[in-house]
Amino acid sequence: MSGRVWSYAALALGTALVAAIMSAMQAGWLMVFATILLICLLFGLLNEAILRSERLAATPRSDPASSLRAGFGRALLQQLPSALLVIDRKGKVAYANPAAFAMLPRLRPGDHFASLFRAPSFVEAVNETIAGGAVRRVEFSAGLSPDRHYSMQVGPVPQGSDLGEDVQAIIEIEDRTELHRVETMRTDFIANASHELRTPLTSIIGYVETLQGHARDDTEARERFLDIIARQARRMQRLVEDLTSLNRIEMNEHSRPDEECDINRLAQDSVIAMMPMAKKYAVQLQTGDLGQPALVPGDRDQLNQVLANLIENAMKYSGPGETVTVAAAGPSEKFPRMAGISVSDTGPGIPREHLHRLTERFYRVNVAKSHEKGGTGLGLAIVKHILNRHDGELEIESQTGLGSRFTFWLPLAGQVPQPAEPISAEG
Ligand code: ADP
Repeated sequence: MSGRVWSYAALALGTALVAAIMSAMQAGWLMVFATILLICLLFGLLNEAILRSERLAATPRSDPASSLRAGFGRALLQQLPSALLVIDRKGKVAYANPAAFAMLPRLRPGDHFASLFRAPSFVEAVNETIAGGAVRRVEFSAGLSPDRHYSMQVGPVPQGSDLGEDVQAIIEIEDRTELHRVETMRTDFIANASHELRTPLTSIIGYVETLQGHARDDTEARERFLDIIARQARRMQRLVEDLTSLNRIEMNEHSRPDEECDINRLAQDSVIAMMPMAKKYAVQLQTGDLGQPALVPGDRDQLNQVLANLIENAMKYSGPGETVTVAAAGPSEKFPRMAGISVSDTGPGIPREHLHRLTERFYRVNVAKSHEKGGTGLGLAIVKHILNRHDGELEIESQTGLGSRFTFWLPLAGQVPQPAEPISAEG
């Protein structure tokens, strides 16, 4: 029986008892009437208190999920990929769906919403909704390293929802860290590419104007300036070629190569083709063991591009008198069922702190040296994207003062590639 039925019974019994006692005491009718009125007043107050407690018991507190009817609505919330939080009048989390627990592993029902993210814009938006019922959408970042980026919408709970009357706001949060990263990469790339093109272009315009002006009749200056203009124009041409190449490689990065080739043979041919360049750099270019055929599924042109980029880098950064060796890499526990080709040099080497960033677009250890050698800063990014298409890996080892070794690994024909630890940063 509910509390209210008991209270009516108590009222009837109490009134009868008081009337009986008072009539036995021969109290006046006015006195009896006043006492009954007092009892009714007390009853009213008692009844209101019971009603309140019944309402509170029916309203979600620490876990209003239990008040959500099992069914479509609940299933929808449970399956929703975005994190969903239901906040009560006191600002406490009354319900969180599984995506919210995945996003905030330390979340407990009953936590205050302001303790979830250290982001003033998030707290301010939720407070505004609780106070005035406005729908707010904000983007905010939180977390230490790396910063995570979120987008959230907060709105009032619709009237008559299953969640009970104590519930005040619903927050939906989306983790946008990955999207943000891609967007930043895109804008950085455009900024870098424009900067790379602007520098030679400014130089070309400057020299052309000088030639049109006071150096018009200076034969010696004209020769020198035309030489610089030609060099800068070639630099722009290389950059445009590399950008086009990178774009093409990225476009078909997800289609696996369907021909097979002997990677050792390709390496051998590349070394022969690059002998004239070795002369130009005054470097000794040689092969190590490349005897046994190693068949890999591969795009011949793209693998030639990988070899050319690595061999040319080894030659141009080593300098005159150094040795560059191209050889088959022995079997590796780290890269099982893969064939590897290594390009080693006896050059200056690369400080350790740069190794993980070398395949990023436009990343250089020494910008001036790269420009001086005609580098575009895109060679290793191209290598990395070609290897991605081939399910391959790039391993970079280097010791300052002793030289560097770049080894690329490709799954052997007929082998399922094994996942290996990433060894380079995003390019
Ligand atoms: P770049 O066009 O500048 O050569 P890459 O992407 O090919 O661009 O290489 C990125 C940077 O890595 C180079 O600028 C250079 O600092 C460094 N690097 C690459 N290969 C070598 C190497 N064999 N020895 C020393 N430094 C190297």
